[in-house]
Amino acid sequence: MRSPADELAERSAAALHRQLRTLSAASGASLTLANGDVLQNFGSNDYLGLASHPALKKAAINAATRYGTGSRSSRLVTGSLDIYQRLESRLARLKRTDAALTFSTGYAAAVGTLTALLRKGDTVILDKLCHASLIDGARLSGAKIRVFPHNSLTKLRKILEQTPTTWHTRTIIVTESVFSMDGDFAPLREIVDLKDEFGAWLLVDEAHAFGLFGDHGSGRAEQLGLHHAIELQMGTFSKAAGSAGGYLAASGEIIELLVNSARSFIYSTAPPPAQAAASLTAIDLIDSAEGRARRETLSTHIAAIAPKTSDACHIIPYPIGDAERAVAVSAQLMERGFFVPAIRYPTVPRDSARLRISLTADHSSHDIEQLRNALESVGA
Ligand SMILES: *Cc1c(COP(=O)(O)O)cnc(C)c1O
Repeated sequence: MRSPADELAERSAAALHRQLRTLSAASGASLTLANGDVLQNFGSNDYLGLASHPALKKAAINAATRYGTGSRSSRLVTGSLDIYQRLESRLARLKRTDAALTFSTGYAAAVGTLTALLRKGDTVILDKLCHASLIDGARLSGAKIRVFPHNSLTKLRKILEQTPTTWHTRTIIVTESVFSMDGDFAPLREIVDLKDEFGAWLLVDEAHAFGLFGDHGSGRAEQLGLHHAIELQMGTFSKAAGSAGGYLAASGEIIELLVNSARSFIYSTAPPPAQAAASLTAIDLIDSAEGRARRETLSTHIAAIAPKTSDACHIIPYPIGDAERAVAVSAQLMERGFFVPAIRYPTVPRDSARLRISLTADHSSHDIEQLRNALESVGA
C-alpha cells in the first residue's frame, strides 16, 4: 500500500505542502491569527467587503430566527422554503434571465450543471485555466473533453470545426469571465460569436465578476451587453456577495431540467436558510447606490496599485515562478504584517507560482499604499 507519509514528504520536498492556518477573526481588510497577531488581508475574495456588512448579518440572523438553522432536507423532498425562490427570482431579475437555480456552493453548481446537461457523445470545450469545479464537472459528465490554450480563439475555432453537433448531441464551451488566479478577462464577445456560428452553448463562470461589473453589478455579461447571448451563466455568492452558495441563471427550460437531473442539487440538503437570506440581501446591496459606491472604491484601489494595463482588476498576480521562492516572499510579507498568499501547483501550472493580491472595498487607500511599500521592500 502506498504510504501517505511518503506522499506528504514528496510534497514538502517540492515546496507544495499545505497547512491550515487557524484564524480567530477575519474581515475583508484584516485577519487575526490564533496568537492574536493581526495581518492586513490581501488574500480575500470578499471584494466588496459584504461578508461583514451589518445588513447581511441581520438578514442571516432574522432568517435563522424564522426558519431555524438547518434546512432539514433536499428541496425536492419535503418542499422548498420560500426564501430560496425569492433569492432565485431576484437573481434572475438581476441577471435578466428567465430563471435561476441556487446550489449549496459554486462547486456544486458547476458539477451539477455540467453533469446534468452533458452525457457520453457530447463535447465540452474548456479554457485551459478553468477552475477545478468546472474540470471536475466536465470529467464526471462523461462527455468528450477538449481544452484550448488560455483565451485562444484560433484554437477554440479549430476545436469547434472538428466537433460536429447533431440534433441529439450538445457542445458546451466553458470559460470564466474573470480568471481567478490571473485576474484577466475572457474575450466573451468573440466567444459568443464563435458559439453562435457553430451552434454550441456557452457556460460562463462569473465567480470573480459577480457583484463587480456592469451598472447593476451582475457581472461581465451585463457589462458587455451579453446577458441574452449566454445560455448558462454560473457564479457564486461566496466571493463579492459575501455569503455562500452557487447559482446558474438560464432559460426556464434549462432550470427545470436541472431541478430534475442535477445530482448535486437533488441529492444534497438545501443550504441553510440564513445563507439564502444573506445572499438575497447581498444582491439588493450590489444593485444599489451603495453597491456602486463600493465598486468605485475598489476601482480607486486598483488604479493605485495595478500595472497600468487596460484590463487590470481586483485580482493582481505577481508572477514569481519557483514555488519555494513564492512561499519565501509571502512569508517575508507576513513578517511585515501583510497576508498575500503564494499560489502554487496544482492551483496554477507548475513553475508559475505567484503572489495573488486581491483588493477589497474594505481596504483604505492607506492600506494600499502600505502594501506597495512592503512589496518594494521585499523586492517584488
Ligand atoms: C470559487 C470558485 C468556484 C467555487 O465556488 P464556491 O462557492 O467557493 O464553491 C467556482 N468557480 C470559480 C472560478 C471559483 O473561483
